[in-house]
Amino acid sequence: MTAGSVAVVTGAASGIGRAAVEIILERGGSVVAFDTTPESLDWLAGNDDAVAFVGDVTRSDDNRAAVEQAELSFGRLDALVLNAGIAASGSIETLDMDVFDRSIDVNLRAIALGVREAIPAFRRSGGGSVVITASATALGGEPNRWPYAAAKAGAVNMARSFALDLANDGIRVNAVCPGPISTGMTKRIEENTPDRYESLKSMVPLHRWGTAREVGEVIAFLASPLASFVTGAAIPVDGGATCGSGQTV
Ligand code: NAD
Repeated sequence: MTAGSVAVVTGAASGIGRAAVEIILERGGSVVAFDTTPESLDWLAGNDDAVAFVGDVTRSDDNRAAVEQAELSFGRLDALVLNAGIAASGSIETLDMDVFDRSIDVNLRAIALGVREAIPAFRRSGGGSVVITASATALGGEPNRWPYAAAKAGAVNMARSFALDLANDGIRVNAVCPGPISTGMTKRIEENTPDRYESLKSMVPLHRWGTAREVGEVIAFLASPLASFVTGAAIPVDGGATCGSGQTV
């Protein structure tokens, strides 16, 4: 993001979303930081370039109101970072299908709602940039994570489709595909299943988990005019985890 640019960032309370907000603010942008509770956005208090917005990304009217807030507070919309997400996993044989439905609702359907509500504001700004936080699981499945992997794969192809649909309006649409990143979402893996934590690390050629800031930097780049010729891309931010075949012999 560049100085004077205005973004809406969903899932802004913690992890990757919070890192993206911090980077945008550091570079002189303004942000409507969207998450589910006011307390989770308290960290923004006192920053004149940020407005806390409490809502639910699965609701059309909340997505619309967040964009209206950006125009009301900062006069325009340049970037929409659709980062809110939830984990979802379980056996195909036993998982309650409500878990799958909720994953699709938050991780996939909400992206369509967010983009739809932002298009008029982007047109008023003469264009804009949408950045979707997908996942490395969108590029290759993961054991027991099919409700999440399916939603994130859908998010990547939705980004590519929207890139085609919205190019004539000067609206770029890209996805980032993080590998294992240390955030609130993954803290439970580290604390409850240290073996899985280590095994995920061993799948990363750079031999570590990533940081929220490392993903936030790529989001901020895609959101900015520096990425003016990039649209329809799905960029892995995964320490190389998805570049191999997985075959070792
Ligand atoms: P996180 O749990 O710290 O952040 C997710 C945020 O989304 C939370 O603040 C949460 O309150 C918010 N959110 C959830 N449902 C919402 C809703 N209905 N409306 C509004 N906000 C909602 O986790 P994170 O790791 O920073 O995740 C950010 C994104 O990155 C997610 O889309 C996640 O799927 C994706 N991701 C994370 C990893 C990882 O290893 N951490 C890897 C790949 C992809």
